[in-house]
Amino acid sequence: MNSPRSAYIHIPFCHRRCFYCDFPVVPLGDKARGDYGPGSSSIKSYLKLLFKEIEITPEGPPLATLYIGGGTPSLLTPDQIFELLSHLKKNFGFQHGAEISLEIDPASFNQKDLLEYLSAGINRLSLGAQSFDNEVLKKIGRRHTFTQLKESCDWISQIFKEGKLVSWSLDLIQNLPDQKIESWKNQLQQAIDTFAPHLSVYDLSIEDGTVFDWKLRRGELNLPNHDTAADISRMTSRILKEAGFSRYEISNFALPGHASRHNRVYWSGAGWWGFGQGATSCPWGTRLNRPRRSSEYINWLKKQEKQGLDASLLFKNRAPIEMDELLLTGLRRREGVDFQELANNCGWDKQQKTIFLNQLINRWEKFIKEGLIRFRGERFCLSDPEGMDLSNQILVEMILWWDSLPKDAVALPNP
Ligand code: SF4
Repeated sequence: MNSPRSAYIHIPFCHRRCFYCDFPVVPLGDKARGDYGPGSSSIKSYLKLLFKEIEITPEGPPLATLYIGGGTPSLLTPDQIFELLSHLKKNFGFQHGAEISLEIDPASFNQKDLLEYLSAGINRLSLGAQSFDNEVLKKIGRRHTFTQLKESCDWISQIFKEGKLVSWSLDLIQNLPDQKIESWKNQLQQAIDTFAPHLSVYDLSIEDGTVFDWKLRRGELNLPNHDTAADISRMTSRILKEAGFSRYEISNFALPGHASRHNRVYWSGAGWWGFGQGATSCPWGTRLNRPRRSSEYINWLKKQEKQGLDASLLFKNRAPIEMDELLLTGLRRREGVDFQELANNCGWDKQQKTIFLNQLINRWEKFIKEGLIRFRGERFCLSDPEGMDLSNQILVEMILWWDSLPKDAVALPNP
């Protein structure tokens, strides 16, 4: 496996915890900021740990993509982002034209910050909009208002038009409580009207331990029923297609030339570095999850420093990425999965390939008949929108197929 050329940095701080979120984040209060005042000492201490983690990681080739996510990375000042990029530059460097993305939340930055983020080296922004409706924003526990979101979109759109920004994206959540078809249509139109060339549209999922989980148990969450949810998802696909967006992954839509290169790294099976509390790295095919709690992350980092790096971070221990994971992520992409490539990676002979493919087709028979899965030669992919909207059932059947294969057929040789 080649050296990773991508990195993910986790900034585990937010102003407050949204009602649906179970990410590893620490809420610092609505007035928190990175340089001084509430929350700043937590952020500064964390950055020191992060820089240490980058420093003790083996040096590698220049990065082609970087994603600074969270959390709310725009709690960091442009100077702090600059410092973070400098540490990465020192350890890895950046390729010419590297995609360097920053997640930002409305009402956590101003127009001046925005320009300074660009001067620090950021060239792609991902704005956490979630909804353009004030009532909905309140209901899901977001801190920002419609006016603040609109203002953020206008600033970003302006610098994008001026050519100062390579690309930008807007995140939305569909199938939120009380969502109706007409109101969702209006949300999509407002997102299109921002001129964002990339949209990520996620389905609400209720995670254990969140406020929404609690409300659902008490019968206080009015989620769209199955049919309405399916109609909402289909509408998303249709309206965005009509607006010129291509669905290059189940939840991601882009105008030509604006698909996120970093997203593709996750789904293609190429490795990546991960840094920070709760982050996952996968440099040589082995996943390494960092602790989600601050104190445990501090202890983990101390251990890495004292006892040497975890084996999965060292080149000599490289291993292929698990094929079932590659299949899962591969099928989320528009181009799907190439069965011949899969057979080659697994070292299957012609006979094995035919038997295993037939077994998979048998499992998928119902979905194939309903047009949810398409075969193009030996490549299979989910149809859009039907297959992508019902992807969970299809993916579950695929994993059951994978688990049913003889053990020696799925034990991959080391590269
Ligand atoms: S801003 Fe994002 S990361 Fe932070 S709590 Fe809300 S959803 Fe979670």
